[in-house]
Parts: sequence; C-alpha cells; structure tokens
Amino acid sequence: MRLAIATLTTLLTVAVAPAQPPRDVIPTPDGELEIVFIGHGTLMLIWNGKVIHVDPWTRLADYATLPKADLLLLTHAHRDHLDPAALALVRTPATAVIAAPACEGQVEGAIILANGASYTAAGVQITAVPAYNLVHRRENGEPWHPKGEGNGYLLTFANLKVLIAGDTENVPELKELTGIDVAFLPMNLPYTMTPEMVADLARAMKPRILYPYHYGDSDPRRLVQLLGDAPGIEVRIRPMR
Ligand code: ZN
Ligand code: ZN
Repeated sequence: MRLAIATLTTLLTVAVAPAQPPRDVIPTPDGELEIVFIGHGTLMLIWNGKVIHVDPWTRLADYATLPKADLLLLTHAHRDHLDPAALALVRTPATAVIAAPACEGQVEGAIILANGASYTAAGVQITAVPAYNLVHRRENGEPWHPKGEGNGYLLTFANLKVLIAGDTENVPELKELTGIDVAFLPMNLPYTMTPEMVADLARAMKPRILYPYHYGDSDPRRLVQLLGDAPGIEVRIRPMR
C-alpha cells in the first residue's frame, strides 16, 4: 500500500511539474548555441548570454517566465507569428526588433528588413531571405504569403549559419543558399510546404542539420523517409507542430 501511494505521489509530481520546452545545443567557434523549441513556428535561441526570440506567441509559452529578448525576429504578420501580447512581455528598451515588411506600422520601433537586407545585432549577423508561396494560394488566387512581404532569417553565429525560413515554399532564392549548418523549414498545409517540397529544398540547400518546424498535421517522419538516401543531412524531429 505504501509503495502504491509513493508511486501515485510520483505520478502527480510529474503531472504538475511545469513543462520545460526541449532544447538542443550546437557548438559554434564562439560558445554554444542553445535552441529552445517553443513550438509551431516559434523558437528561442541563446548564444553568448544573448537571448533571441523568434515569432513569440503567447499561446505556446508563458513569456512572463522566459528571459527577455536582446534580439527579436518577426518573420511576418500572421497572428501566430506577430503577437503584440508576447512582444510586450519579451521586449525591453534595449531589445533590437527586426521585422519583415509585412509588419510595417504594426510594431513600434521595429527595424524593417526587406528581402536581401542585412543587419547586425546582439553579435549576430542577420540577413533577411525571401519567404513566399509559389503554389499554395487562397481561394481567391492570392498566395498565402505574397513575395516581398515576409522574411526568413539567415543568422550567423561566429561562423555557424542557421536559417529560420519563416512561412515559405521551396523557392529558387532558398535553393541557391549554400553553407547552411542548421535549417528550420516549415511544413504545415495548406500554407507552406508538403514534405516533398521540403525534401526538394533540402536536397538543393544541403543543410547539415534539418529541423522540420511549423509542421501542423503533416507527419515529419515522412520527411525522414524522403531524405533517407540524402547524404550529409541529419533530420531532427522536435515537437514543433
Ligand atoms: Zn503565415
Ligand atoms: Zn505560420
């Protein structure tokens, strides 16, 4: 009986412990990069004591308990990417806020980067890359993500190159990127890529580590199957539904 009670207590303790989002650590020549998988299209990165929030969204985390942003990156203005409540919780007067043209006029003090533009903040070199649809469209024919409005971000930590692609498809500008160490590629339908489109982009870009993210109801194991014979690409599945 005593054992049964102890087991029950253990179970209850596990059940009520606050959920810690999973993390990966990747070495760079200048300290470790810690990647915190908040969920969906949202990440937190920590490098050299600097905290970077990407598309923070209050539905996924209690931002009052997470560290404030030294750098804040916004890929576009859809509500799961641009959440004013989350911004209010992670911003300080010292936060550098980098946003896509789609966010223009919606985030006070933001530095708007057009596709192709670069900026350096928190010791990180940031280049905005295009994020848009070629195929997937609304019923009225408009792409879910029109070209020029959204950004992906190519981040350089010392010499480690990390691409956070935003909401995009396998567009030519992304296929031309080389030397990517870590890529986050979106896979939720009908808004971004099918697993086949992600695999096509990955075969061109050849990232060393590929995280499917923002994958919604798509099965990331399908991507592992599709890239089974692709040399040099490690697909890592994390809870980024
Ligand atoms: Zn979107
Ligand atoms: Zn999205």
